[in-house]
Amino acid sequence: MEQNLRVLPNHFSLPRRLSRLSELAYNLWWTWNPEAQMLFSFIDKLLWERLSHNPIAFLRQVERSRLNAVTGDRNYLDFYDRVLRNFDNYMKGESTWYKRTYPNLTDKQIAYFSFEFGLHESLPVYAGGLGILSGDHLKEASDLGMPLVAVGFVYILGYFAQRITEDGWQETRTQVLKLDEMPVIPLYDEDGRQMVVNVELPKRTVAARLWKVQVGRVSLYLMDTNVATNNQTDQQLTSRLYTSDLDVRISQEILLGIGGVRVLRKLNYKPDVWHMNEGHSAFLVLERIRELVEQGSSFDEAAAVVRKSNVFTTHTPVPAGNDAFPFWLVDKYFDHFIPGLKISRDDFIKLGSTHSEWGEQFSMPVLALKLSDQRNGVSELHGQVSRRMWQFLWPDLTEDEVPISHITNGVHTGSWIARRMRLLFDRYFGPDWMQHIDDLEMWSQIDEIPDAELWAIRRHLKRKLVTFANERARRAWLSNSIHPVQVIAGGVLLEQYSLTIGFARRFATYKRANLVMRDIDRLLRIINNPSMPVQIVFAGKAHPADEPGKLLIQEVYRMVKDSHAGGRLVFLEDYDMNVARYLVQGVDVWMNTPRRPLEASGTSGQKAAINGVLNFSCLDGWWREGFNGRNGWAIGDELDHPDPNQQDEIDAASMYDTMEKEIIPLYYANRSADNLPNEWIGMIKESIRTLAPQFSTRRMLKEYMSQMYLPEMESETEPDQEPVENR
Ligand SMILES: *Cc1c(COP(=O)(O)O)cnc(C)c1O
Repeated sequence: MEQNLRVLPNHFSLPRRLSRLSELAYNLWWTWNPEAQMLFSFIDKLLWERLSHNPIAFLRQVERSRLNAVTGDRNYLDFYDRVLRNFDNYMKGESTWYKRTYPNLTDKQIAYFSFEFGLHESLPVYAGGLGILSGDHLKEASDLGMPLVAVGFVYILGYFAQRITEDGWQETRTQVLKLDEMPVIPLYDEDGRQMVVNVELPKRTVAARLWKVQVGRVSLYLMDTNVATNNQTDQQLTSRLYTSDLDVRISQEILLGIGGVRVLRKLNYKPDVWHMNEGHSAFLVLERIRELVEQGSSFDEAAAVVRKSNVFTTHTPVPAGNDAFPFWLVDKYFDHFIPGLKISRDDFIKLGSTHSEWGEQFSMPVLALKLSDQRNGVSELHGQVSRRMWQFLWPDLTEDEVPISHITNGVHTGSWIARRMRLLFDRYFGPDWMQHIDDLEMWSQIDEIPDAELWAIRRHLKRKLVTFANERARRAWLSNSIHPVQVIAGGVLLEQYSLTIGFARRFATYKRANLVMRDIDRLLRIINNPSMPVQIVFAGKAHPADEPGKLLIQEVYRMVKDSHAGGRLVFLEDYDMNVARYLVQGVDVWMNTPRRPLEASGTSGQKAAINGVLNFSCLDGWWREGFNGRNGWAIGDELDHPDPNQQDEIDAASMYDTMEKEIIPLYYANRSADNLPNEWIGMIKESIRTLAPQFSTRRMLKEYMSQMYLPEMESETEPDQEPVENR
């Protein structure tokens, strides 16, 4: 394993007494430990906010006088010592769940590959749900002490920053990441140069530099091709996430899969399990087969070995959403690679070939499915959909027998829970409650929390959201670049006592952000009821190439701007993890309206639930499993109508009815003498009790361990002990 490479960049001149702040800044442990965040913010609160909670930028820019001030502050120093003691104990990891549960497997290694990792807003190399899930996976693996190592990219141009014009059109702004202000640590060779791995692309070799991100106890290695020895075009190869250029896309996937294996080899990792999070990394199976063939195995022998140690998680419930390449492109990129596998070109193509709307293509999920022994979807319904979708790969099996199981997604509690909620649980569940997140029993103590205390925190969090929106709108107005009506659209008229609904996610058309606008008059009547006003806060980005998605934003934005909405409909620009945190903590109701069964899981509603926000969603993905009739509300039912327009009509009607007859009265009516909505608070408690343990990454990672990783760790992977599988 990697040795002697850990040289932290030395960008800061810190007083010696505070020198370990740099260590904290370079370990994302701080992102889920509010006390570590306070260690920074306490030094200069305004600067901390202005730099979007980026401790590296912060330590580079903070004034020396501020540092000197806290160095003389007894209380600060005690606090500093305590936080670092906790950090050291955590990093030592003497009695982790993994060590206690699998003492015989501590020398095993799991490699986790993903196209994107959403760890924190200050490292914007993610686009949405898939990335956040990957990030949460790493944080939880760290908490549990799982021996996991991860591979991905640092995209120097990030995803994109979003601006909305007065007319509601999404403009994309490119930001160039300053790597010296990111928690990425360059890895160096013995000769002092930054480490690279090489990958062959048509008629050239491309080099990728290596960076390391420390996520608690887990190491994440990131590649980027911005290397002087590459030609100009290749230097840009990894600059953007999810480009639509097929040459760039296949090159990135070759780098992730094939280059990623080489990264781990270079650093002397010998993973026993290889987890492909979605199909983008599926080329890794080819590199691993090539390695074994080079050592003398036949293709079939090598494939059998490799298959036994691969895990594949699919996230895409529609065939068209899956990553696939035309054969000519695969030929162009794999011409030189195929001979090393000792199979024919046609047999190679068969590894991934599938029929699609566009004729035959080479499908990444097909490659991953064929060469993994463990395969799963990300919710129960998505498991069913996946078995139906991929049944053609197992023609001898019935749909139910198709070997694709499911593990429902969860969220990393520490990353998404508000600090006040965490402190509340500290008080009522005991200070080590985070050790027991997936323990149903523990959560039943929620009933001991007095309604007034819980409600005070809910009100505080909503106030924070309102202030956040106000401040952003003010700053945008100050920039002198927006129309006055955009100030209102940005939330200056939001207020803290109205029932507030949140809707934030990627603007993909299947998520139907405009469903709530289907009957505009009815919507306006609902939100403008003077005795029971309702506000809806929208946020989300559309992929820059997704014209229907951008039109959807425009439709929503036009309504938001409409004076008849009275400023009660709001659009927050530039949805990212920071905006997400304010929203999932601050609103009263989290709404989601996907067209079934296209929301493979969804996770934002899970983040909302742990903060005492009630879910109001279609019975798709995780909510179909989470909803019990008493812990939130369903939109529509489980009957799917063949006509999508009819389906929208039915779902919209169900949505309005439930808002008018159940949600709004429950929030406003029947208040007790001290103005507490006791029934609402009762529902919050039912929601937290039932959802927080189940939809946590704690439960999820333990399932990955027992169902996916363990069988592979226990199977012997030495080539000469393997039966030869002929296919
Ligand atoms: C959680 C999250 C998502 C994914 O939410 P879904 O419910 O799956 O749509 C996307 N973007 C951000 C910034 C998030 O925090």
